[in-house]
Amino acid sequence: MTDLSFNTTVQQCRNLSGGVWHEDTHLPKRDIFSPYNGKMIGRVPLSGADEVSRTVAAAAEAWPAWAQTSARQRAEVLARFKALMIENMARLVDSVAIESGKTRVEAEAGLQKGMEIIDFAISLPNLDTWDSSEVSQGVHCQFRRESLGVVVGITPFNFPAMVPLWMIPLALVVGNAFVLKPSEKVPLTSQILGQLLMDAGLPQGVFSIINGEAPVVNALLAHPDVKAAAFVGSTAVASHVYRTGTSLHKRVLALGGAKNHIIVTPDCEPTLTAKGILSSFTGCAGQRCMAASVLIAVGNIDHVIEKVVELAKKQCLGRDMGAIIDSSSLKRIETAVANAESQGAKILLDGRGRKSVVQDSEKGCWIGPTIIDHANAKMECAQMEIFGPVLTIIRASGLEEAVQISNASPYGNAASVFTTRGDIGQYVAQNSNSGMIGINIGVPVPREPFSFGGTKQSRFGHGDITGKSGLDFWSDLKKITTTWPALQANQSTQSGQFLLHTT
Ligand code: NAD
Repeated sequence: MTDLSFNTTVQQCRNLSGGVWHEDTHLPKRDIFSPYNGKMIGRVPLSGADEVSRTVAAAAEAWPAWAQTSARQRAEVLARFKALMIENMARLVDSVAIESGKTRVEAEAGLQKGMEIIDFAISLPNLDTWDSSEVSQGVHCQFRRESLGVVVGITPFNFPAMVPLWMIPLALVVGNAFVLKPSEKVPLTSQILGQLLMDAGLPQGVFSIINGEAPVVNALLAHPDVKAAAFVGSTAVASHVYRTGTSLHKRVLALGGAKNHIIVTPDCEPTLTAKGILSSFTGCAGQRCMAASVLIAVGNIDHVIEKVVELAKKQCLGRDMGAIIDSSSLKRIETAVANAESQGAKILLDGRGRKSVVQDSEKGCWIGPTIIDHANAKMECAQMEIFGPVLTIIRASGLEEAVQISNASPYGNAASVFTTRGDIGQYVAQNSNSGMIGINIGVPVPREPFSFGGTKQSRFGHGDITGKSGLDFWSDLKKITTTWPALQANQSTQSGQFLLHTT
């Protein structure tokens, strides 16, 4: 039987700067409660401008020596970090699960994806073997990758380890000093990651953690020594971070929210399709930017919808599905379902009030899979990012209309199609304006080295956050053009030896 118990001692989170964990007892604290059962599991300091100055100053001091090491030396530290993550996997999995409400299986999957980014970062010395090219006679051009300096990552609640790990390995391997501002809702796991990075031999000050809320983000963006910021979170905050950072001439990549569509055509393979839809909208309790949120039924696919409902009814809360991050999020989800009902949509499956098998779960935040049918594209449930296990079904008369509905969304993270016809798959891949496309895959997260990133209001800035695009975001390419004077016959060196002899 699955062990659903967790060690829930209350953890005091600290800030990390200059290689030192700071208690910062003078700061106000925020209490952290587990979504599983409402139990208090931690307290996090809410830092201010002084702590931001201290952290950035220590990072700026540490950066030059780190930047001078070779990419191979930096990769070796990251390889040790990954080995330590594997050694500490059970502790990391429990930490992610208890603070974010994920199941242990989901928590581990996020950690594995994070380690995939470490693997990619470690490959940098083998990737950056720039060829030098003779651009004119005796003149050679060459690239050299340079770090930027102090850079920051601002992360959301829904992946306490994976999203920070989209950033940390890539930013560090190119030689930056990295400051993490974790979500104040899930600050516990980054404490473990910070300690493991130090245990792996990362020089003091090269990795820092500053806890807090919006004022910390704004102070980091305003700090003159911060050169770049990556952000992942809601679209409203992503837009704010992008505008604020770029107005101060910082490099910013800000990933925002999503409203992903799955298009299903009658020729699809029903079992594969139903399972794909189910895992997409219920995985991580719908709290992921790659979750399917709208199912667009092209023609009659009622047999598939019936299967999805049947499978969704069997989901066991606490074992197959995790919890919702907090009570205000739960209320937002329940309100969206109630609004859909009052606007005339039909609730095929209602997850409100569903019980979880977790002990004391009545004090936690739970909702079961919910399916809303016969919505239209203008309804709130078809437009807003509900960020819960809720699937809205819209009926479309043809494929063209289905793609138009999906493309009209202001978001552009992902879109999928389930079909057995190559021409249909190809049509969606070519005509969808989302950044990540799935064909018979409900959660089309690209695997490294294919990079992660959406379009439209799901991403402000250029490029993707992982893959080679991520390396390029965290660095500059210096171009070095070289020529040498030709060696003359009978020319002696300072030591008096002749290099070229003439007869
Ligand atoms: P959020 O925007 O509320 O918070 C994200 C970060 O921004 C946190 O660290 C928070 O402290 C900070 N923040 C919050 N308000 C701020 C403000 N006014 N000014 C400055 N900083 C502020 O997001 P969340 O609720 O933690 O995460 C869920 C959202 O993240 C969803 O919209 C989801 O789609 C999105 N998300 C997107 C991706 C992606 O790849 N596009 C990945 C994961 C999550």
